[in-house]
Amino acid sequence: MASKRVGVFGAGGRMGVAVCAAVASAPDLDLVAAIDPAWAGVELSERGVVDTGLVVSPTAAELVKVKAEVVVDFTVAEAARDNLVWCAENEIHAVVGTTGFSAADLEDIRVRFEASKANALIAPNFAIGAVLMMRFAELAAPYFETAEIIELHHDQKVDAPSGTAILTAERMAAASSDFAADPTEQVVIAGARGASGPGGIPIHSVRMRGMVAHEEVILGSTGQTLTVRHDSYDRTSFMPGVLLAIRSVFDRPGLTVGLDALLDI
Ligand code: NAP
Repeated sequence: MASKRVGVFGAGGRMGVAVCAAVASAPDLDLVAAIDPAWAGVELSERGVVDTGLVVSPTAAELVKVKAEVVVDFTVAEAARDNLVWCAENEIHAVVGTTGFSAADLEDIRVRFEASKANALIAPNFAIGAVLMMRFAELAAPYFETAEIIELHHDQKVDAPSGTAILTAERMAAASSDFAADPTEQVVIAGARGASGPGGIPIHSVRMRGMVAHEEVILGSTGQTLTVRHDSYDRTSFMPGVLLAIRSVFDRPGLTVGLDALLDI
C-alpha cells in the first residue's frame, strides 16, 4: 500500500517538531510538508528533524502543491480554527492536538466536516495513559461524592485549564450528577477554589517550569480518597497516539473527538 502523505501545521513548535520526527520515521507515512509562519524558510534539520530535506513553508497552500492527504495540527486554538476550515474546504483530513476549543468551536467544526469529503479527529490528549486516566475517573465518579482535578503543565502553555482537564470533568459529570455542593462560604483570595468545571467539578491549573503535561483526579468519600494520576514526562509520549490517529482518520467520516474512540477501552 502507498505511504500516506502527511503535512504538519505548527511544524516549528515543540509538539510540531516531535510530530515531524515521528512521521518521518514511520515506514508507512511520508512527511511531505511542514507549515509554520513563525519558522518559514528554516530547514527542518535545524529544528532537529533529520533526513527529510524539508524546509518549513509559511502557508497551507504548500499542502495542495505536494498533494498531502492528511495534516496534523499542534498550534494555538485561534490558528487551528482557521486551519480546520481550510482543511474541510480543501478536502484534506485533519488530526488535531491543539487545545483551547470551545463547545461552539467543536460544533462548527463538526458541521463543516460533515459537509466535507475530509474527516477530522481532535484529541486533547494523545497519551494512552491520559486516555486511561479519564476512563478510570469516569468509572470511579458515581462512587464518590466529591472530586477535584489538578492539571499541571510547562510554563509556556497559553490556555487554561487544559483540554484534558475539561474533557475529564465532562466525562465525570456525565457519569454522575451526585457531587456534593462546595462548602466554602468565604473565598479569601479569588480563585482559591479553582475554576468551576463541567458538573461544578473544581479544576486547578499549575504552570511550572520543568514540567510537560500532568493531571491528578482526586475523588473522596467518607474515610477514603482515590487518586488517579497521569504524567507525560516527554513529548514522545503523545506520538503513538498521533500516529494511530493519522492512520485511522481516513476511515472515520465527520468529526471524531478523543483518542479513546480509536481504542477498545
Ligand atoms: P508551541 O511550541 O507554541 O507550538 C505551536 C506552533 O504553532 C508555534 O511555532 C506557532 O508559531 C505555530 N503556529 C501558530 N499559528 C500557526 C498557523 N496558522 N499555522 C501553522 N503554525 C502556526 O506549542 P506546543 O507546546 O507545541 O503546543 C501546541 C498545542 O498542542 C497547544 O495547544 C497544546 O495545548 C497542545 N498539546 C496537545 C497535546 C495532545 O496530546 N493533544 C499534547 C501537548 C500539547 P508562533 O510561535 O508564531 O505562535
